[in-house]
Amino acid sequence: MIACPVDVILVEDMQTRHPVIFPDQNPCIRCEDTPCITACPTDALSLDNLQG
Ligand code: SF4
Repeated sequence: MIACPVDVILVEDMQTRHPVIFPDQNPCIRCEDTPCITACPTDALSLDNLQG
């Protein structure tokens, strides 16, 4: 959430702290250096299935 420069990744419930994304409201701009992937401590984000 902190790594994303355009606030795409949000945490709505501070108890569960699950990240959420609403692409219809605030889409990912596909940063060239993917700071979200670099910052993710559990490797939950990946470029393996990147298309287009
Ligand atoms: S690539 Fe990651 S850091 Fe960049 S806008 Fe998309 S979600 Fe945010």
